[in-house]
Amino acid sequence: MIQLIRGFKDILPGEVELWQYIESTARSLFEDFGFREIRIPIMERTELFARSIGEDTDIVEKEMYTFADRKNELITLRPEATASVVRSYIQHKLYADDPVQKFYTIGPMFRRERPQKGRYRQFYQINAEVFGIDSPFIDAQLIFMLVKLFSRLSVTDVEAHINSLGCPECRPRFKEALAEVLSAATEKLCSDCVRRSLRNPLRVMDCKVPSCREAMTNAPAIIDFLCSECRLHFETVKQALEKLKIPFVIDKRLVRGLDYYTRTTFEIQTSYLGAQNAVVGGGRYNGLVKALGGPDQPAVGFAIGFDRLVEITGLKNADFKQNPDIFIAAMGENGKARAFEWACAFADSGIKTEMDFSDRSLKSLMKRADKLSAAYVLMVGEKELEEGAVVLRDMTTKEQVSIPLENLVEDIKAKILLTTNA
Ligand code: ATP
Ligand code: MG
Repeated sequence: MIQLIRGFKDILPGEVELWQYIESTARSLFEDFGFREIRIPIMERTELFARSIGEDTDIVEKEMYTFADRKNELITLRPEATASVVRSYIQHKLYADDPVQKFYTIGPMFRRERPQKGRYRQFYQINAEVFGIDSPFIDAQLIFMLVKLFSRLSVTDVEAHINSLGCPECRPRFKEALAEVLSAATEKLCSDCVRRSLRNPLRVMDCKVPSCREAMTNAPAIIDFLCSECRLHFETVKQALEKLKIPFVIDKRLVRGLDYYTRTTFEIQTSYLGAQNAVVGGGRYNGLVKALGGPDQPAVGFAIGFDRLVEITGLKNADFKQNPDIFIAAMGENGKARAFEWACAFADSGIKTEMDFSDRSLKSLMKRADKLSAAYVLMVGEKELEEGAVVLRDMTTKEQVSIPLENLVEDIKAKILLTTNA
């Protein structure tokens, strides 16, 4: 038997309803905040990710699914969405009418990393990106929107962590100070970090190797190096969050693995998922649109790990169990033929309908209705057709009523829609 690829998964009926609910909750909330959906392809030219995410990141170094197509073009299954959304913003000149644009997108991402709880090779993200606004209020609003989403989804035990990464003006001074600390601690660093400390020292800060963590305990904090504009920006984000009563933690070690992030950076973390504690990663990337050949427009966004969100929500699959409103127990060829028409008409009227097409006894049909937790069972056989009325059983009260054949669909519709809408 052929199994699915390691790190990939099926989302089965019974689980998918929770995913759908989360998705529709996010959509409606985001739309209230002025976001519109954008759908982008699952593959892009490799160069797009290499340039936007940065050659010197885990994603580009070792996690991308990259291959040559039949014409030897290098393409990559997207490891994240931001690069594609930016490409689209530039390619279609979405800034031309109004540089301020707010998008969200939901879909699968692909990274070849070691599968474990909360870490898959095909995983899903819910992304939001804002272009054309540099105001710190929008950064705070994104975090507010996330906190509201999480509370609507009964997620508890999450914490917003924020930091500022400064800008090309103030970051170099910080990098120098960091490089000094790192060069004094080279023997404690893992081999990756020795290389990083020369090429991209910021990345040493979020290395998870314990000896690297230890080496970083007396590393300088970026927020002590911010220029006055970056400092004011960060202060305003914090004050706005306080006004909105959103608790947050200033996390001096929080950096993004991606090169294009500037100023505000944030994560929403949980303690539920062990090492995979980040449910959302986000922040500002003011330099990216220009770097990819677009206008010099600021941007800020986030990516929610959908799979991780599903794992930490207080909602359960059972909350979304879909039971039929009506189960039709039809017997005999004539019974089934009539019942079939009713079944189609019920379903078309918004009534969840199940019908059994086999030749089973009434007893075994009733068993099946019970198993499906149908609200009502409609029983029809030769006898009922002759007598001109069928039996409708309310499975909760066990009450049975006789329903005449004329006007049957309308009568049952009225009865069921009345109780299911109650
Ligand atoms: P991590 O440190 O856990 O590897 P990351 O920094 O690589 O996360 P981002 O690139 O910021 O993650 O992606 C945003 C979010 O997407 C993460 O916070 C996480 O919730 C989710 N995510 C990232 N990689 C995976 C994965 N392999 N499987 C499931 N979810 C993931
Ligand atoms: Mg990662």
